[in-house]
Amino acid sequence: MSFTVVLVGRPNVGKSTLFNRLAGKKLALVDDTPGVTRDWRAAPGHVGGLSFTVVDTAGLEDVSDDSLEARMRRQTERALDRADVALFIIDARAGVTPLDRHFANLLRKGRTPVVLVANKAEGKAGMPGLYEAFELGLGEPLAISAEHGEGMADLVQALMPYAKEDDADAEAQAAAGSIGSEEDEIPIGDQPEPEEDKAKPIQIAIVGRPNVGKSTLLNSLVGEERVLTGPEAGMTRDAISVDWTWRDRRFKLVDTAGMRRRARVDEKVEKLAVADALRVIRMANVVILVVDAGQILDKQDLTIARMVISEGRSLVIAVNKWDAVENRALALKQVEDKLEAALGYIKGVKVVTISALKGQKLDTLLDAVLATYTVWNRRIPTSQLNRWLEGVLDHHPPPLIEGRRLKIRYMTQVKTRPPTLALFVNKPLDLPESYQRYLIADLRETFDLPGVPLRLLLRKGK
Ligand code: GDP
Ligand code: GDP
Repeated sequence: MSFTVVLVGRPNVGKSTLFNRLAGKKLALVDDTPGVTRDWRAAPGHVGGLSFTVVDTAGLEDVSDDSLEARMRRQTERALDRADVALFIIDARAGVTPLDRHFANLLRKGRTPVVLVANKAEGKAGMPGLYEAFELGLGEPLAISAEHGEGMADLVQALMPYAKEDDADAEAQAAAGSIGSEEDEIPIGDQPEPEEDKAKPIQIAIVGRPNVGKSTLLNSLVGEERVLTGPEAGMTRDAISVDWTWRDRRFKLVDTAGMRRRARVDEKVEKLAVADALRVIRMANVVILVVDAGQILDKQDLTIARMVISEGRSLVIAVNKWDAVENRALALKQVEDKLEAALGYIKGVKVVTISALKGQKLDTLLDAVLATYTVWNRRIPTSQLNRWLEGVLDHHPPPLIEGRRLKIRYMTQVKTRPPTLALFVNKPLDLPESYQRYLIADLRETFDLPGVPLRLLLRKGK
């Protein structure tokens, strides 16, 4: 049950540090014999119950006289040949450099699947770099700190699809034979997270551009003048933590510090505001994105909305200052059109028109928060999933690849918050993205999972 993970990236991003963490410090001192040209270091690696071979391409920069780029290309290509998955590491503190871009291009052309990792992301200093990393076109960056061991759970999650566990295959085979029985969960990978626990407060973040009414909304929700509001941009607020109860459910507002920074119209500051939002989003279960009804869903609003989804959080959009809108039908139409255009891939995001100032429709807003939170916690029985999968494969089979049909075997939900499904396929890397999107859309519709991110993990199953 082994697979190979190769660490690639320019010098100094932290490959060796991560290698040491995955391999255990003692094992890292391999192959240091003088006079032996070292190819790459390989060692058994472990993280969160996964076992694999980890290969480090660090320390190879000085073996020939070619340009750094040429040497790195050669070494990386050779190491990639042997790998099931590459962790492409960048330095979140340094941001994206030209050499990182060069690497990204190389990796995008190759056949080896790539997980983008932003290292040195502990604390705040890594945030702008993390945001920049989206530009590399390699998907959502995983924030970690190799030095401090942060983000390892996310790393496990990202590596899980590449684990070729014989026993998991066997389980899949066994269960595939019992599709339609009442048999339910087949735990694989990490421990599933606990089901929705009604005693725990729902963590809410309120995000949005300056002046849309976030503080006013918070005041109205908790019914106290605890946050200062005012029209002057640049006003400072105190960070507070707020707990309240509504219809017997506890809510907790996470980190309002982001509300203190009032952005000026200045690109750098706007980037910071986005980085701030990212940090707050990560602490939340449900994110309320407040937008101004007079300025429907601009580019920055949509960036934040997409970020909520790519971070796996549930999203509710509050269109505020509805009291001041004259043509409501038109405004509503505009919101719907923009959402369809920008977030069409995630159907059913709840949009609630409110007036934070007048306290209107706040119950509707909290209802939407609860409903979305429930879907985010939903667990679908394996038997139902596989019954559905059988039907889908009958009516809309995956495309032929080089004349052969991919074999999709089995599906099971491995996680909630958000719902995350493992799909066992004979050749996971060949399953086209368009087909994955089709599966997710049909799943969302069939099992009624509106407005939350759904994740599909591809796993190898013979
Ligand atoms: P490599 O050249 O890619 O193998 O990078 P190294 O592992 O040698 O790390 C380069 C430098 O970054 C060293 O000084 C490390 O201590 C530092 N470093 C590695 N990981 C982290 C991290 O998570 N946070 C911080 N702040 N520094 C790190
Ligand atoms: P924040 O920067 O997002 O926290 O925004 P504030 O809560 O400070 O609100 C900015 C301005 O918008 C203030 O002058 C508020 O009184 C005003 N405002 C907030 N909510 C509403 C609303 O529902 N209707 C109207 N008409 N004005 C609002």
